[in-house]
Amino acid sequence: MKKMITDTMLMPTYVSRFSCIGGECEDTCCAGWGITLDKDTFLRYQSSFDSVLRPLFTQHVKRYSKSKSNEDYGHIELGKDDCKSCPLLDEGKLCRIHERLGEKALSDTCSHYPRTVHRFGDLHQMTLDLSCPEAARLALLAEDAFDFVAEDRTISQGFITVVRPKEGIDLATMEEVRSLIVQILRSPDITLSNRLRVVGQFCERLDGLIRQRRFEDLPGLLGDMEQDLDSGAAMAPLAGFTALPEVQAQVSAPFLMAGLKAFQSPHVRRVLEEVAQGLGFREGLAPEGPALVRAYEVGRARLAPALAAVPWLLEHFVLNEVLRDLFPWAGESPKRQFAGLVIRHATARLLLVGRAASREGMLTPLQLAETLQVACRGFAHDRNLVRHSHQVLEESGWDNLERLYTLI
Ligand code: SF4
Repeated sequence: MKKMITDTMLMPTYVSRFSCIGGECEDTCCAGWGITLDKDTFLRYQSSFDSVLRPLFTQHVKRYSKSKSNEDYGHIELGKDDCKSCPLLDEGKLCRIHERLGEKALSDTCSHYPRTVHRFGDLHQMTLDLSCPEAARLALLAEDAFDFVAEDRTISQGFITVVRPKEGIDLATMEEVRSLIVQILRSPDITLSNRLRVVGQFCERLDGLIRQRRFEDLPGLLGDMEQDLDSGAAMAPLAGFTALPEVQAQVSAPFLMAGLKAFQSPHVRRVLEEVAQGLGFREGLAPEGPALVRAYEVGRARLAPALAAVPWLLEHFVLNEVLRDLFPWAGESPKRQFAGLVIRHATARLLLVGRAASREGMLTPLQLAETLQVACRGFAHDRNLVRHSHQVLEESGWDNLERLYTLI
């Protein structure tokens, strides 16, 4: 039987406002990507005698033969329709398992998406994945979406990611590093691009201390960064740094080409094709350099007034990526994770610019949020695309900090 826990969880305000819109959803999570089953749920479906569900479970519920973990023990095979829908959905796009066995019978994936829960010591932190359209609207369109609140929530223990101390670094220091990064990303007197560059500086210095195993110097680095932020000294290395739209366009266009080649839900594909049309793509291929840069400049000019209606949009996007991904402690080095964040920011902006370029009229706030939802659903979830993007950067020598800055 699944072990459920109830605890007070720290979350951005938009998370406390979220509820799934079910059959109204324009890009349902019950289609187009793997539906992992934890062991308890897999065994429950295998032993179900429900007359409607049993034949469906027999046909579509499969064991991951190579998996050794209880969290991804098996999966539900996707349907063969255009959307690759979950075969357990009824004609009304509602879940037959939920209808016939109740919410408790859902797998951790189905019952908890789009939620992500990390446990840092005694503290549970919840965020949502903006690949969910409703979550994206709530996170990106409300100015107070990232004010933090604490609420009691009940969740399956198996679904919680327990954060372990990194070698030589205790949890308290790891949490201080994350809080400082959120503070930098929310600094009102600095442009978002420069906030990201300051985060890049911080990650590079953090990386250096970790590689030299100078863990005792981490508290000093935190103090220095806070001081530099307060005094403005953190901006000194960035003086005279200007973004290079032509570089942004040419380095991020291959990300879109790869996204257009991959399987995408009809909703994601519709938006990506608008973006491609706006940037002058033909049959999924980017136009020559100068033509691409011209289209990008047109899009930037049309996007600016639209963004003025929601000036916090990209800040909220980046904040959510940082919170959801346990940045900079999720696996790889802080500097490599920073490169990943720059890729996601560059891809998100490319989609916004391309979509703005594809139309005479101004993008509405809802269309801006939809475009960033597509950036999450169409790119962030596809490991191959993420790997490909890093490869593009590394092979083109764009993964060093100074060059990454020009992509921001
Ligand atoms: S994507 Fe979000 S709103 Fe849509 S069905 Fe899934 S949880 Fe609900």
